Amino acid sequence: MLTRSTLGMMHLMQPLQLLICVLATLAILTLTACTTPRGITSHPPVTWAIALHGGAGTLDRTAPPEELAAYRVSLQAALDVGRERASKGDSALDVAEAVVRVLENDPRFNAGRGAAFNEKGEHELDASIMDGATLQCGAVAGVRTVKNPVSLARLVMTQTKHVLLMGDGAEQFADAMAVERVPNSYFSTDRRRKMLDEVLRERAAVGPRSDAAPRNPRTTYGTVGCVVRDTHGNLAAATSTGGLTGKRFGRVGDAPIFGAGNYADGYAAISCTGTGEEFIRHSVARTVAARIAFGGQSLEQAAHTLVFNTLKKDDGGLIAINAAGNIVMLYNSEGMYRAAADSTGWQTVAIFEDDTK
Ligand code: ASP
Repeated sequence: MLTRSTLGMMHLMQPLQLLICVLATLAILTLTACTTPRGITSHPPVTWAIALHGGAGTLDRTAPPEELAAYRVSLQAALDVGRERASKGDSALDVAEAVVRVLENDPRFNAGRGAAFNEKGEHELDASIMDGATLQCGAVAGVRTVKNPVSLARLVMTQTKHVLLMGDGAEQFADAMAVERVPNSYFSTDRRRKMLDEVLRERAAVGPRSDAAPRNPRTTYGTVGCVVRDTHGNLAAATSTGGLTGKRFGRVGDAPIFGAGNYADGYAAISCTGTGEEFIRHSVARTVAARIAFGGQSLEQAAHTLVFNTLKKDDGGLIAINAAGNIVMLYNSEGMYRAAADSTGWQTVAIFEDDTK
């Protein structure tokens, strides 16, 4: 801050000294802005920026390197689609939907193909999308035959006056919208089938309450999401999931609940992953935006408070972006599949905390 005495000192300086002093101050300010705590990236000013996640449930570090490498390839492919669309000037909504569709089509992630099984060995998918500029939003819950639930969510937003359709009603709406349909078995993969078997075994060992399973992020979590700041300065968030492995038939998580697992306004766009019930209890996504709007907190402070103070260890994580293009990607589990990029050319793809790239 320029105080009266600093101004006085500047008055006494020679022009060259003054220039050096101003340049040194600018250098210090720039360095301070770039030095950010854990999980946080900051490269504004940018014309566009994007972050995506593939869930907070991860392979452990001892997983074969080629498996981890394959996940990085998948994350990079989704990021490339987002970068291309965002740099062309596409709207935040279009970019978020396009990226989530790529992740839904990728069997490695728990959304669309590769979705988790419920306790009956079937798939029920949840998805949502929200426009930060207008607060328009749409979501679907418990859909069973829609190949890309995020696109049906977008149609709920644009073609109905509602924000959330569920189950049979959402399926009938899909009939009317002529979106691509698949048999429920299309979503199945061997890997998720093994996870269900593991969860049901753990559950049987615990006792009669069928949903009282020990929480194991490796076997239960996964969701995909994308947050975007477009070249017009608008924000959007999209989230899609198969939900928790072994969930009760009819269970709906946080992904289609605005303010819980997904939210966007003029301050921030947020997509979450983890134990949906906890994200619903604490209205995590909306609370991040509200802390900025009403509490005067930075995006970094707001997200950090939710992930490390409000939520408990292993509950999950979130990605968030603000209108300046700042990005945070934070989690309290062992890792989170994630990637981000912005118009400066910076990009990152990471799984664990110490990933450098
Ligand atoms: N949040 C999702 C749900 O509870 C699951 C996840 O992110 O892994 O449905």
